[in-house]
Amino acid sequence: MTEVETVTSERARPDETDLLSLHEAIAELHASQGDFRTAYEHLRTALGIARTARPQIPEQLRREFDRLRRERAQAREESLRDALTAVYNRRYLDNRLADLRGDARTPLAVALIDIDLFKSVNDTFGHLIGDQVLRRVAELLRAGVPAPGFCARYGGEEFMLVLPEVQPGTALRIAERARRRVAQHAWSEICPGLGVTISVGVSHEPVSGPEQLRMADDLLYAAKHAGRNRVAYRERGGVRVLEHCQ
Ligand code: GH3
Ligand code: MG
Ligand code: MG
Repeated sequence: MTEVETVTSERARPDETDLLSLHEAIAELHASQGDFRTAYEHLRTALGIARTARPQIPEQLRREFDRLRRERAQAREESLRDALTAVYNRRYLDNRLADLRGDARTPLAVALIDIDLFKSVNDTFGHLIGDQVLRRVAELLRAGVPAPGFCARYGGEEFMLVLPEVQPGTALRIAERARRRVAQHAWSEICPGLGVTISVGVSHEPVSGPEQLRMADDLLYAAKHAGRNRVAYRERGGVRVLEHCQ
């Protein structure tokens, strides 16, 4: 199971033999990086070529084009990722949620996740270990999200699983498996005495976006109130907390 990857809509690769369109494409890429002077030089070269026969593409130019394209794709990808944990960031989360809500026919569940007593992890083991815990929790969470769902860092020590196209029972099972995977992880390998659990609020309601997030937040609070290391959800109008053995 994988989380959905970003699709970068790159300009189609220019014809290998078409030096003119290659110069135009390179000009566009330089312009998109704010380097208008170099972009202009390439456009001028393109103009010159347009007046002559079509020569072979120099290898150096081909390499420059490939490098610029790679850099642009990488910059785009990095702008959507959280720098610490490498899961999607809040910007990506907000945009995707808005898109998904535009399609009212697709069921959508969200699981809001908060690491339990994380402040005491920082206080006891230090912030560097705290950062390591955040990275590991993110890995454990993203590993269990079926496509086209994804995991994002909501903020601080909070994450969100976005689960489109799943029924309420499936969303609960995914959340419960995530809870168990974190609780059963070999945390003492990072630091002797370390243990980490998460609390989860799963909201699967046909309501507006802000309302669904508010519900997930209330449910997360209910999971904390029930003793932490728990998954809370709504059923027939009432708040329920999943029973578990560990
Ligand atoms: P609860 O179970 O009620 O959620 O308790 P908690 O201690 O997890 O909650 P609290 O909100 O008091 O603490 C959250 C902590 O998360 C405080 C903050 O310093 C820490 N934190 C937030 N972002 C980061 C980060 O990027 N790295 C580290 N190391 N700590 C972070
Ligand atoms: Mg929190
Ligand atoms: Mg917390």
